[in-house]
Amino acid sequence: MSDFRDIEAALHEAQELILELMPDNIRSILQTRMTSSFGAIYNWRRAVIPPVVEHALHDDTGRGRCPLCHRGPDQGVHVGFTLPTGLTRHLEGSHNFYRCGVMAVAEAVAKRTR
Ligand SMILES: [Zn+2]
Repeated sequence: MSDFRDIEAALHEAQELILELMPDNIRSILQTRMTSSFGAIYNWRRAVIPPVVEHALHDDTGRGRCPLCHRGPDQGVHVGFTLPTGLTRHLEGSHNFYRCGVMAVAEAVAKRTR
């Protein structure tokens, strides 16, 4: 049991560190409070994802990498996601887009600290 608590504490520490490594303006978005009410996760994503998408830098084609993990689509010739739709799907992990790991961490911390 003690080992489990050690592992859990180490996980929480690593999650906090990931958020600490984000630029201040991005971190403040990701640290949006999540309520404990029904639909809290949905509402949290609706509050967090649009301002994160606004931080994406776009290229000449209007595409941009994720401002959280700096990744783009794994397939095709494009280096960035379409904005805002492709990046939103990456942040949500919807429509068969791989989910952003940083976003998953931010959501886990928001759930834990609500
Ligand atoms: Zn990402």
